[in-house]
Amino acid sequence: VGTAESPDPRIEHGLAALLGRDQVLPGTVAEFLHDATEERGIAGWADAIVLPRSADEAAAALAWCYERDVPVVPRGGGTGLAGGAVPCGGVVLSTDRLQAVRSFAPELWRIEVEAGVRTADLRRRARENGLLFPPDPGAAEQSHIGGNIATNAGGPHAFKYGTTGAWVTGIEAVVPPGDVVQVGGVLRKDVAGLDLKRLLIGSEGTLALVTAAWLRLIPAPESAFPVVAFFPDLETGCDAVGSVIGNGVVPAALDYLDEGALRLAARSYPGQVPVGAAFAVLAEADGSEAEAASVRDDLVHVFEGSALAVETDVDRGALWRWRDGVSLAVATARGGKVSEDLEVPVERLADAVRGTVEVGRRHGLTGLSWGHAGDGNLHATFLVARDDTSGQQAARRARAELFAVTRALGGSISGEHGLGLLKREYAEWSRPVAALQRQIKAAFDPKGLLNPGKKLPPDDPGSGPRL
Ligand SMILES: Cc1cc2nc3c(=O)[nH]c(=O)nc-3n(C[C@H](O)[C@H](O)[C@H](O)COP(=O)(O)OP(=O)(O)OC[C@H]3O[C@@H](n4cnc5c(N)ncnc54)[C@H](O)[C@@H]3O)c2cc1C
Repeated sequence: VGTAESPDPRIEHGLAALLGRDQVLPGTVAEFLHDATEERGIAGWADAIVLPRSADEAAAALAWCYERDVPVVPRGGGTGLAGGAVPCGGVVLSTDRLQAVRSFAPELWRIEVEAGVRTADLRRRARENGLLFPPDPGAAEQSHIGGNIATNAGGPHAFKYGTTGAWVTGIEAVVPPGDVVQVGGVLRKDVAGLDLKRLLIGSEGTLALVTAAWLRLIPAPESAFPVVAFFPDLETGCDAVGSVIGNGVVPAALDYLDEGALRLAARSYPGQVPVGAAFAVLAEADGSEAEAASVRDDLVHVFEGSALAVETDVDRGALWRWRDGVSLAVATARGGKVSEDLEVPVERLADAVRGTVEVGRRHGLTGLSWGHAGDGNLHATFLVARDDTSGQQAARRARAELFAVTRALGGSISGEHGLGLLKREYAEWSRPVAALQRQIKAAFDPKGLLNPGKKLPPDDPGSGPRL
């Protein structure tokens, strides 16, 4: 491979000779060199970008690279928040042109799609046929289903329906040194052999390039009713979340905004935020009309005891659009943000939310959070302008401390965005677990060429960049 300053033209030309000029772009095309961590100033470089039109073309490209020791970085919609699709040289293998719906059997509740189908398009296609593909990650208009599988993406409705992996019955993938394999398929159950499908889910492009998937759908719920509750403080709000769970109420989504996030997003809220609100819970009740109404009433009953206000007449579409915009509203407040996706046991949510604010304060930063309360999943955030060098340094120190706080609460440093490039130096594995992870990686990718430097325990922990 070349260098960041001068990519190796032989790689672009060699792949163009193999696949045709139209399938290969120079490594300098900027849109393929970053993901959503661009807001933190992270971008990479590549020798070439490859846009295969089929699994066979992707396999040919991987085989060509594997033979020549060229690293390969799988890429979907580039919305990742861990730098997983950011190349550090080599070839970016994009799923942009793998957009076919290979088969759709609405009456059997299943669909087979290529990896480059956008999440929102898949959800719309299901919906038009009376079905639901439940995973609803926030950047669904841009993210690809292959990227969702590679990160096992979540979203608000993962509380009831689980993350992307729960909906995947089969995967077609290209594995080193250049083979197309199928693991699983249309079968809803299959325990013949080790569960390789499950290994690929969430593997962040380090084991294979996902080229297609068989997905499970369900009949769309007849009704879905939002319930939004505002609380006077964090503890009361988190207690209410605990009461929902403890009382056996099962909403489809159970999200939250803490005081800081609520303050910055309140202006565009499509309803009325009461004075004194310091914590908001966004819930949704779904099912048949009667079931959804019953769950909605249960939620109202649980919240009413301690909330400042409970709203049930807010427009559902407007509510979730607003929720999707929270990240942007928070980022624009100070001209940038450093956000971390943390996971804690749900009963420790209040400690983690408070911990984020306190860690921020210790480093001279405003800390706040929002996220998927029912899953114990926080988007813990420090406000800091992109060009504020000392603020960015403080945020780097603060996030290291935040990870320690998370661990002390029995949590994980990533609930849904993955480790990618950004976090692998912070992850902690026991020696045997690290060894198993490396052995599994080596079994799929003996030369270590698939998305190197991402996700997995470094050979020499502490020697890599602490971004
Ligand atoms: C505004 C916003 C909101 C978001 N909300 C959520 C949310 O609610 N829940 C959530 O989980 N995430 C969320 N994300 C993060 C991101 O959208 C998800 O991680 C998403 O699944 C990434 O998909 P992608 O196609 O963009 O993948 P990319 O960013 O292109 O890649 C992500 C990782 O997957 C690998 N990869 C991509 N495609 C393949 C493939 N075909 N085969 C193998 N590996 C592949 C890449 O190498 C990389 O490591 C959000 C991001 C933004 C910007």
